[in-house]
Amino acid sequence: MDLQQLIRKNIQALKPYSSARDEYTGEAMVFLDANENPFNAPYNRYPDPLQRELKVAISKQKSCEADQIFLGNGSDEPIDLLFRAFCEPGKDNIVTIDPTYGMYQVAADINNIEVRKVKLNDNYGFSAEALLETTDKYTKLIFVCSPNNPTGNLLDNNELIKLIQTFEGLVILDEAYIDFAPGASLLPKLSHYENLVILQTFSKAWGMAGIRLGMAFANPEIIRVFNKIKYPYNINMLTQQKALELIEQEADKNQWVELLIQERKALEEKLSKLPFVVKVFPSDANFLLVKMYDARGIYDFLVENGIIVRDRSKVVLCDDSLRITVGSPEENQILLDKLNELL
Ligand code: PMP
Repeated sequence: MDLQQLIRKNIQALKPYSSARDEYTGEAMVFLDANENPFNAPYNRYPDPLQRELKVAISKQKSCEADQIFLGNGSDEPIDLLFRAFCEPGKDNIVTIDPTYGMYQVAADINNIEVRKVKLNDNYGFSAEALLETTDKYTKLIFVCSPNNPTGNLLDNNELIKLIQTFEGLVILDEAYIDFAPGASLLPKLSHYENLVILQTFSKAWGMAGIRLGMAFANPEIIRVFNKIKYPYNINMLTQQKALELIEQEADKNQWVELLIQERKALEEKLSKLPFVVKVFPSDANFLLVKMYDARGIYDFLVENGIIVRDRSKVVLCDDSLRITVGSPEENQILLDKLNELL
C-alpha cells in the first residue's frame, strides 16, 4: 500500500489549523494564548486536542501504542474522516458488505462517493474474493463489520485476513460489538497490517454511548492523516475526564458483558419457542436478529406497549426481521411477557 497515493491531493497539500494548544508543550504558569476566560476553571480551558492522557490509558488496556489510536466523537467521526481524507468526491468509490451498518452509506452520500455493495451469503458470511472482484482502480476503502450489524454474526477471520492482505487500499474493520465476542478482535494483529483500520467504541459494552467516544486503531501514518483533518478540539474535556475515570472500571464492563452474553442466550432460547418466530439468528453481539411472521405487526404491537425494537424488514436479506437489543434481565422479561400475550 502506498498511503501517499491513497490520500486526496488537497488533503496531502493541506496546512492544518494549528490551535494555541498545539503550538505549546511543557509546563506553564499563565495561559494567555487561547483567548479563554480566566474564570470558571477548569471548564474555561480548551481540552487537550490530542487527548494524550486518555490515549495512554487506552493503549495500556488494548496493548497497542498510543500513536496507533485516534479518538472521535463516536466511531461515526472516523468513518466520516476516512471519506474526507481518502475519497475524491464524484470519482472514487468504496466497497462494502450488504446488509451492514447504515452510516457507511450515509457518510459516502454526504461526501458524494459511490458505494458498491456485495450481498452476504445465506448464512450472512462473506467472501473476500467477491469483495475484491467488485473493486476497481478508484476503490479506496473496503468497509466490513464484525460482528456485523444488523445480522449479529462475526465474519470469518481467514476471509478478513485474505481481504486485508490482498487489497491495495484501506480495509476498515468495524468492531463496535467485539466485546461481546471475546477473543475475536484483530487488534492484537494490527501492527502486521499497514492498511488496516479497526473501529471500536465506548458506546456498547462500556455503556458510555452518552459521552460519545469512538476509537480508530491504525498505523501511525494513517492516524496522522486523521489528526490533520479533524476538528481541533474534537473530544471535549468532560468526555476525556469521564472516559479516564470509567476506563479504570474494566471489571464492571466485563461483568456486564458476561451477563449480557448469558441474557442473549436465554432470550434466544425463549424467542425461538414462540410460534410466530421463524428464526433467531446466531449472534456474537448484544442484539438478536429475529425473523417473524408479520414482523411489522409485532413491531407495532410492541411500540403500542412502550417497547421499542428495530424493524429491519426493509433491509436486504432481513425481510420480516426485527433487531432486538439484549437488555437487562428485567427489560428482557418485559419483552417476553408482552410477546407471550400474543399467544
Ligand atoms: N459501528 C457500528 C457497527 C454500529 O452499530 C454503531 C452504532 N450503532 C457504530 C459504529 C457507531 O457507534 P458510535 O456510538 O461510536 O458512533
